[in-house]
Amino acid sequence: MKEVLEQALKAQDKDLCDHCLGRPFAHVGTGTTDERRGAELRLLINEDRAARGLGPMVHQRCSVCDEIFDQVPRFAEAVALKLQEVHYDNFLVGTRVDPVVQSREEELWSLVGQEFAEPIKSELNREIGKAVYAITSKDVDFKNPQVVALLDTRFAHVELDVAPLFIYGRYRKLSREIPQTKWPCRMCQGKGCPRCGNTGKMYQTSVQEQVGDVILPYAQAKEHFFHGMGREDIDARMLGTGRPFVIEISSPVTRALDLPALEKEINEKSKELVEVEGLRTSSREEVRKVKDATPDKEYRVQVSIHGKVNKGAVDDVLRTFNRTRIVQRTPIRVAHRRADLKRERYIVYVVLEEFQDDKMTLRLRTESGTYVKEFVHGDEGRTEPNLSEMLGVPCTVDALDVIGIIDNNEG
Ligand SMILES: [Zn+2]
Ligand SMILES: [Zn+2]
Repeated sequence: MKEVLEQALKAQDKDLCDHCLGRPFAHVGTGTTDERRGAELRLLINEDRAARGLGPMVHQRCSVCDEIFDQVPRFAEAVALKLQEVHYDNFLVGTRVDPVVQSREEELWSLVGQEFAEPIKSELNREIGKAVYAITSKDVDFKNPQVVALLDTRFAHVELDVAPLFIYGRYRKLSREIPQTKWPCRMCQGKGCPRCGNTGKMYQTSVQEQVGDVILPYAQAKEHFFHGMGREDIDARMLGTGRPFVIEISSPVTRALDLPALEKEINEKSKELVEVEGLRTSSREEVRKVKDATPDKEYRVQVSIHGKVNKGAVDDVLRTFNRTRIVQRTPIRVAHRRADLKRERYIVYVVLEEFQDDKMTLRLRTESGTYVKEFVHGDEGRTEPNLSEMLGVPCTVDALDVIGIIDNNEG
């Protein structure tokens, strides 16, 4: 404390409030407030001055903060009032402080040192946070606040930054006509034009819209974003236990949603298109996990065989694909939007489920990112080896379903 007093004495001729006198020494220890530390220092400084025959430190109007801390109750009122616009369980206060005040604080630091200093912004955030808690009984959350109240101290103006709502689930896509995510019209980029019948969309609906549009009115929100654990082609169904996803709802007014009821409503409104299950609250961290996951996939493929081949030969060929690597050059159908690369992919197994002369049904499990259609037809030799080549007759895919996402997490 002696060294601290020595430093603090350098400010004895300044007009400072207790907050601003204590704050340069905020990190000297814990268990007290800047204001209390400032009051203690003032006593010590005044004792020192008295010993030198001097009167106490002058304090009328703080030369750093202009007595801004007197306004904490008023700021807290403004924040609490603004917070009434949303439903929330926890919050955080952020303040914008007049740059003039900040530069006066820096001047003070240059006088007394800033090794242990805390910026005025942090003290205000904390003090206003405490006062808001006293009014609202809602907790301050430093890590993942549901809402941040941004206060401009010059005008006591408050803006809210509401954290998105994240909901995890698994979906089945029962239609071969809709994409996973909302797809803006290529001609008008979503504005609406004759090409899209003024919908602004390439497709009538999507998994994202079937799920998100039901949630929006309950959350009193306007926008959603969809994060899937990979995606299937539009003409592929997604069956089995479904595909994990997280839907992100921006700026929700209401966060407490009845997820089982929502699940029911989504499924009723999406009959024959989409089914969801296991809805629960999620987080941004989980979005990252879902997007980074590379699970194996299980597929069922209906294949047309354009030539003569017998079942025994098919069985033999399929066996050669068990636990093998294939090399796939970027398929012709996606080459316009993806880099032309060669990738190695692992086939775990391929089994024959049904066989009738010119048709067969296969079930296969492959590494994430395998182009299954190309594995079947060969993509003009861009996938090596491929099924058509090995059978010696051209094969084409009539229908493709994803029947399992092997994510080892749930389900
Ligand atoms: Zn002050
Ligand atoms: Zn359009």
